[in-house]
Amino acid sequence: MKKQVVVIGLGRFGSSVCQELYKMGHEVLAIDSNMERVDANRDHSSHAVIANATDESELKALGVRNFDNAIVAIGDDLQASVLCTLMLKEIGVSKVWVKARDLQHQKILEKVGADRVIQPEYEMGVRVAHHMDSEKIIDY
Ligand code: ATP
Repeated sequence: MKKQVVVIGLGRFGSSVCQELYKMGHEVLAIDSNMERVDANRDHSSHAVIANATDESELKALGVRNFDNAIVAIGDDLQASVLCTLMLKEIGVSKVWVKARDLQHQKILEKVGADRVIQPEYEMGVRVAHHMDSEKIIDY
């Protein structure tokens, strides 16, 4: 079923989530405060817009309340990531998935209502270790 997803923050992580969901046929609204990043995702999303995701009135004007799913992919600016997550939950987005840079960031995000928190580097590291571990059996 086609989903409506808003992706906020178009770094490597956010843009790969955005582009992949769009390729799968979902409706994706891509948001970033940086014009170049928005331009780079224009052809790989349903709509790509420049906006400050910590400004509640901007999020409301973009119709974010009509989206059931959101990905907050702002890792470095902890305050922006937390504020944006809180606002999306208050606006009424039912599933808000958020990228965290470490465990402390993850705990704060869980307290403000994030439905799922992802630590990409940590989770990928664990997966790679498991892949390497299973290779051992194949090699043997
Ligand atoms: P990645 O590790 O995914 O490559 P990154 O290293 O570029 O990300 P991040 O700090 O995680 O850096 O930021 C991701 C994106 O979020 C950037 O493109 C940045 O412009 C955007 N961003 C940061 N703050 C805001 C904000 N308040 N509103 C909208 N976009 C923002």
